[in-house]
Amino acid sequence: MAKKSIAIIAHDGKKAEMVAFLNQNKKFLDNFNLVATGTTGKHALEAGFKVKCYKSGPYGGDAQIGGLVSEGKISMVFFFRDPLGKHPHEPDVQMLMRLCDVHNVPLATNPAAANLIIKGLV
Ligand code: PGA
Repeated sequence: MAKKSIAIIAHDGKKAEMVAFLNQNKKFLDNFNLVATGTTGKHALEAGFKVKCYKSGPYGGDAQIGGLVSEGKISMVFFFRDPLGKHPHEPDVQMLMRLCDVHNVPLATNPAAANLIIKGLV
């Protein structure tokens, strides 16, 4: 059976936490294809993960991943948001989160929630 896909996205203030989270869950993540917004994906590649990178978030990457969610191509989204930062692409972020709810796709916006999702699946 084809591997399912997980989308990973982290705002700049959360990229280090995302890489730590990926490293902590490497065995679980090996069972999935990873897709990411551009800069998050670059960090994951540098950490040794295989990732399909879309555009950087502010240049449409969140919107692209929203499109994948609406096409049923994403099984879960780990989007580590920085609640203390301002983001020019906030409308795209809202769109992606809305599409997760529209299509009932699990969405974790911080590592604690992402870890609970993973625990529920292993
Ligand atoms: P980035 O985008 O991975 O290209 O930094 C993430 C975001 O800010 O949505």
